[in-house]
Amino acid sequence: MAEEGARILVLGGGFAGMFAAKELHRRLRGRAVIELINEVNYFVFQPLLPEVAAGAISIRDAVSPLRRLLPGVRMRQAQIYDIDLARKVVVIFQGLQRRYTEVPYDHLVIALGQGVDLSRFPGLADHALPMKTLSDAMALRNHVIDKLEHADITSMAEVKRELLTFTVIGGGFSGVETAGEMKDMIDRALEFYPNIAPAEVRIIVIEFADRLLMELPPSLGEYARAFFEKRGIEVRLRTGIREATGTAIVTSDGEEIGTRTVVATIGNAPTPMVAKLALPNDRGRVRTDRCLRVEGQAEVWALGDAALIPLVDSPTAREHYAPPTAQFAVREARRLADNIGAVLDGKQPAPFVYTSKGALASLGGGRGVAEVFGVRLSGFPAWLLWRGYYLSFVPGFAAKVRIAVQWMLDLVLGRSTVQTGTSKARATRYVRYRAGDRVFEEGNRADGFYAVVEGAFELSILDPAGGATRRRIGPGGHFGERVLLGEGLRTGTVRAIEDSVVLMVGAEDFQRLTGALPPLRDYFDSYITATFRNEPP
Ligand SMILES: Cc1cc2nc3c(=O)[nH]c(=O)nc-3n(C[C@H](O)[C@H](O)[C@H](O)COP(=O)(O)OP(=O)(O)OC[C@H]3O[C@@H](n4cnc5c(N)ncnc54)[C@H](O)[C@@H]3O)c2cc1C
Repeated sequence: MAEEGARILVLGGGFAGMFAAKELHRRLRGRAVIELINEVNYFVFQPLLPEVAAGAISIRDAVSPLRRLLPGVRMRQAQIYDIDLARKVVVIFQGLQRRYTEVPYDHLVIALGQGVDLSRFPGLADHALPMKTLSDAMALRNHVIDKLEHADITSMAEVKRELLTFTVIGGGFSGVETAGEMKDMIDRALEFYPNIAPAEVRIIVIEFADRLLMELPPSLGEYARAFFEKRGIEVRLRTGIREATGTAIVTSDGEEIGTRTVVATIGNAPTPMVAKLALPNDRGRVRTDRCLRVEGQAEVWALGDAALIPLVDSPTAREHYAPPTAQFAVREARRLADNIGAVLDGKQPAPFVYTSKGALASLGGGRGVAEVFGVRLSGFPAWLLWRGYYLSFVPGFAAKVRIAVQWMLDLVLGRSTVQTGTSKARATRYVRYRAGDRVFEEGNRADGFYAVVEGAFELSILDPAGGATRRRIGPGGHFGERVLLGEGLRTGTVRAIEDSVVLMVGAEDFQRLTGALPPLRDYFDSYITATFRNEPP
């Protein structure tokens, strides 16, 4: 059947894009072709991600297939690469071959959300776990279980302390909810780890502001802090993060906390796509007028976390703009659909007007905080309200039923401590060390090859006479190759002697690379011969 009408292209399938496509289809059915492009074929209900990470609900229940949520809307799973405003086409990479494709539009809706950029804090991008996507939630869950497994069997007290210290950077909604859920999960898992005493587990929330949950009134932020302290979750207010390594974080007041888990809920930044667009933007959010139309563009619209939407005519303060929340994104979607409809009818679009009905946060342990229609609630009633509200908000009847059932089962059944998927870190990654940190020691299994990017390391190899050969390795140098190209366990110990960064290449990748590239193998063979000539094999 031939389709007619204006072609409206929605970029992004989160709260903003999914609801925009739904509302556009409802209002303009038969008059316009609505198409949505997203990099995955499902919608993620982000407020439930901390519960996914804690295993309270399963991964499938925090997502819904976009095709089911959006009957009548064309759906394309693809990577959006660029927008050519002059030619009115969006450039995407799609299909198995990631083929370059141009998709034309009459009206374009940008709803690409925000990304995460942790590069302002040394080491954080390499060592922290973000909390934004479904795979972040799964990675955190596997990571926490992995730490419990290792803590249960290690005989090294310092390593055990690090493994059982879990830090969360950011005391906003996602940081608070993640810390509360992580606490629930660990408390319930400990019965299966006989060598871990509850008192050995530390969860620390680090927040730069002087209270938790800045979006809520101070009394509720204080309630959350006091409740956390009572549950054994430490809260550090007025504290920032200075740097992170694989075994520690350093706070803005210089405290070093040994930890192998850093969850970062800070660092919202434009997605790479939005950052490169030639559209007016403010710290990565596309500037729109009050009607959600991108400044200076007649047929380009933006909403959700990707957009900076003024709520008054001449905004002067942060609260004069729509906040980046799901609650607002859904309301913006309705106004946007009405406005595009009005423009297609040759009428004037209307400004977006909405006042928040309140905010809620779950603190775990069956407690929450809420301010709804000016009424403040805390404790169990707030937690119940939180669950009820979000259940009503989850799109799709099937998803609502599945979540409700999971919540009920969670009250009576134990939680699984199965690691789903892999918790292995990326095979090639940057790793940061502070002066004095050990990279590996004699007798360890060889895990990878290390190229020094910054700083310096000392390699020491014991000799049979009881002495040791020491070698300093600085930027451009490398270590760890000899055992990988031969067989067996580490024969020396490497420590950082300055604050340093290395590029670590996993053992298997290094062996494949040197196997496939004879000149590289030749380089390492002659390097090893020249360097280790006088040392024991
Ligand atoms: C852990 C957590 C808890 C939260 N809790 C609450 C809460 O309790 N209440 C509340 O109101 N809000 C909450 N929020 C905020 C809320 O989830 C966001 O405001 C909302 O998701 C924004 O919707 P969006 O559609 O603008 O962006 P997103 O939901 O991020 O959607 C953007 C979409 O664009 C896609 N995309 C981006 N770039 C590309 C590309 N180049 N190619 C293809 N696709 C692309 C992404 O895959 C994604 O599907 C929470 C957020 C988090 C992370």
